Amino acid sequence: MKDRKLLMIPGPIEFTPDVMLAMGMPTTSHIAPNFIEVFGEALERMRHVFLCPDGQPFVIAGSGTLAMDIAGANLVEPGDRALVVNSGYFSDRMGAILERYGATVTQVHAPAVGDVPALEDVETALKKGAYKIMAFTHVDTSTAVVVDAKALGALGREHGVLTILDGVCSVAGEELRQEDWGIDLSFTASQKAIGVPPGLALVVAGPRAMGAFHERKSPVGNYYADWANWLPIMQAYEERRPSYFGTPAVNLIWALNVSLGQILDEGIDARFLRHRRLNQAFKAAIGALGMKQVPLGSELAANTLTAPYYPDGVDKALLGHIKEAGVIVAGGLHPEIRDRYFRVGHMGAVNESDILMTLGALEKGLAQVGHSFDAGAGLAAAQALLTQ
Ligand code: PMP
Repeated sequence: MKDRKLLMIPGPIEFTPDVMLAMGMPTTSHIAPNFIEVFGEALERMRHVFLCPDGQPFVIAGSGTLAMDIAGANLVEPGDRALVVNSGYFSDRMGAILERYGATVTQVHAPAVGDVPALEDVETALKKGAYKIMAFTHVDTSTAVVVDAKALGALGREHGVLTILDGVCSVAGEELRQEDWGIDLSFTASQKAIGVPPGLALVVAGPRAMGAFHERKSPVGNYYADWANWLPIMQAYEERRPSYFGTPAVNLIWALNVSLGQILDEGIDARFLRHRRLNQAFKAAIGALGMKQVPLGSELAANTLTAPYYPDGVDKALLGHIKEAGVIVAGGLHPEIRDRYFRVGHMGAVNESDILMTLGALEKGLAQVGHSFDAGAGLAAAQALLTQ
């Protein structure tokens, strides 16, 4: 028997063999000429993947929360006002981080779990307050809800605020055009759709965000996150010069460069399309199995993950049976509904077979918990779209 489990959680995801090979190669010095070349190339490729040709990329060892911290530490000065467009768990965290660096934070909440704050409410808030920053979570990983990042970017521009986009569950999976959409800073973490094992915080700051940093009157209240320390390092690697502030995560950066190369070989638009297609097939299957989802409408549902509610009479014991059938999915995260739903990630190198295998395991699990349903209905619905 093969003892392989397919990992279908919303990060870490499964990585390509070439990415894993880079992780296992002999570690070089951080100033070895071949590493300098790779780091420099990875920084150049970040601009293309974030679609932010004039942005300043930062690649720093840490998780996605460090990327959030970097945004807050470098852009907030004590007394600044910040608006958080709150669509769930990770928007709460962003609000706490902005507050930690001295911002006065106002939140515009989604009216219900599975919904997003109305654009009119965001606009009303922007008109009322003299905000410096507006932050939002592109895809909230706790609810699988996606906000309209393009519209929020446009609102941010109109009202002269710096926009911060948490793209941890979106970059390189969900459509994001940072520069065209007027987003001033976006970030992700390596373990998600960008396809590298956990351990890198990946940030791209546009010219206005860098300008705000350069105009700061107070020092950055976080030594490790301070761009004053990291900007010369990123510039040096891009200019192919040796430099040092903190030891970079050498193997992760080799792996990042491989993954960014794979993403650009696929083509960023083709990649967005693949995510959309696989997502539609998966969600069609969930619907065909009679399961509801956390996002309240299909236009609110992300392409990188799905959050189905358990059918009546089924609980989280289902996840054990899905695992037994060979696929690992994630439990609920949003505190208000934690035990009523589960989450399936489908991002990065995910393919059609992964989608079908996950649905096969889900159907097997449903049968094993005694749920009555039309066996094969989910697989058929997905396959009908995938064979088109
Ligand atoms: N923001 C979002 C949208 C996330 O999904 C996550 C992680 N799941 C984070 C931030 C935090 O990232 P990390 O767990 O890597 O610190």
